Amino acid sequence: MVNGGSAADAIERVVIVGGGTAGWMAAAALSAHLAGAGVAITLIESSDIGTVGVGEATIPTIRRFYAALGMSDAEVMQACQATAKLGIRFVDWLRPGHSFVHPFGRFGQDLKGLDFHHYWLKARAAGEPAPLDDYSLGALLAREGHATLPASDPGSQLGIFDWALHFDAALFAQHMRRFAEKMGVTRIDARIVEVRQRPEDGFLDSLVLDSGASIAGDLFVDCSGFRSLLLGETLGIDYADWSHWLLCDGAFAVQSERAGPPPACTTVTARSAGWQWRIPLRTREGNGLVFSSRFQSDDDARKELLAAMPGKPVMEPRRLRFTPGRRAVAWAKNCVGLGLASGFLEPLESTSIALIETGIERLKQLFPDKSFDPAVIAEYNEQSAEEIERVRDFLILHYKLNGRSGAFWQACRAMDVPDSLNAKLALWRARGAFVRYRWEMFSPASWLAIYAGFEDLPTRLDPAVAGIDSDQLARSLAAMRRALRETVADTPTHQEFLEIMDGAA
Ligand code: FAD
Repeated sequence: MVNGGSAADAIERVVIVGGGTAGWMAAAALSAHLAGAGVAITLIESSDIGTVGVGEATIPTIRRFYAALGMSDAEVMQACQATAKLGIRFVDWLRPGHSFVHPFGRFGQDLKGLDFHHYWLKARAAGEPAPLDDYSLGALLAREGHATLPASDPGSQLGIFDWALHFDAALFAQHMRRFAEKMGVTRIDARIVEVRQRPEDGFLDSLVLDSGASIAGDLFVDCSGFRSLLLGETLGIDYADWSHWLLCDGAFAVQSERAGPPPACTTVTARSAGWQWRIPLRTREGNGLVFSSRFQSDDDARKELLAAMPGKPVMEPRRLRFTPGRRAVAWAKNCVGLGLASGFLEPLESTSIALIETGIERLKQLFPDKSFDPAVIAEYNEQSAEEIERVRDFLILHYKLNGRSGAFWQACRAMDVPDSLNAKLALWRARGAFVRYRWEMFSPASWLAIYAGFEDLPTRLDPAVAGIDSDQLARSLAAMRRALRETVADTPTHQEFLEIMDGAA
């Protein structure tokens, strides 16, 4: 073996605690990754405790996650009652009556070597009113309720966009479970009543179940949800509380009947002390109100949600509480936390499942041996911390730029934001450019969508746009808008798209 490792050091037993989205995604991906390597994977979940039962909106990385397991879009969509998500439509966040789409993908096309937004800003300064959305195929499709696959040979940069899914989270976990069990993962349905640690170093040793059985492991993956049974409760890893930046700390979630044809986007509408989500699935809709308990009572939040829901509720709203933040480290001793056990920000921008994917990917890349070299753990923790802090900044931006009235929204506007976000905002405003940190989940196109959607625009244009003839620019932009409108008119409705995908399953 290289680097002094020996076969005797190899991890032989991985124990995953929790069978929610995080647990079964980890089981599926690790069983595929470690196939043939002689590693036994056991997943323990408690059907008495159940799962958090929300988490229906994703970002495009989910499609690459399951593609790596050999699953097609059509297969997953059918198994999980999924619809297509081309972006998020923000309603009333800047001011009542205003909306914009954060699409997955780029805006416009390059004309003379500059990022597209510089041309858009020049035309805007000359009085062209078309919003940035008009230059994104993904945003236009989402707005019109159409859906299609990105052009495989785009011919024009205008055909480039990406897409994700809205799915039934329980069905997705079951789909991952079927795959994992086929790959040899052992599932135990039991409640863990005791966690045993090695006396000499505090490493996790075994889990005692309510049946009396004891399950030993070398590496433990904590996917136990908000309780954080291993990382938080047992190993005592502190929680960094970010509720001074992300004021929402809970939600009411409810499923409803479908109200009309499904839009191909998540809709998030600003409300008095937070925002409301609407997620279309095949036969029902997921709805919820995320709010700040400092600014709204439970009773008012529940009423506000039910009053503004287009579909008839099919259940009582469920109250969920969370503290935005993360565990100080995601990996301690021989335990890696994934999903809610390692932290949660809030549902806006659907980043929680995506953080599970990147956590799993990082674990694959840095898979340890029994020596649990501190260098490996430190690298995992540094990457995880940087990534979630960048997501945190992106979410804070949405609140900071709001233009609404009311105590909650004024508090969001007035709050101090992290230096890392201030640096981004300063460069954007000064020069229309993007500070790029490591481990960013959201590309400059996403930051642009939010800056432009909130009409927070640079004070100076790129000097090079002065060299572009204004009339020629106006003609080029009009041609782009026309080409995109014509493309959208030729695409199926979202409902037709779903039927086409079913035919391919
Ligand atoms: P859970 O689903 O809570 O699973 C925990 C598991 O641990 C369960 O199987 C439970 O039985 C088991 N367990 C716990 N204790 C024990 C024990 N003692 N013994 C045995 N088993 C035990 N994410 C997105 O990406 N998109 C969204 O749109 C989105 N919306 C959200 C909306 C809200 C209001 C909230 C709160 C979260 C949302 N999330 C969203 C986050 C998403 O729901 C989670 O990231 C995802 O469901 C993963 O959860 P989990 O598997 O970590 O935890």
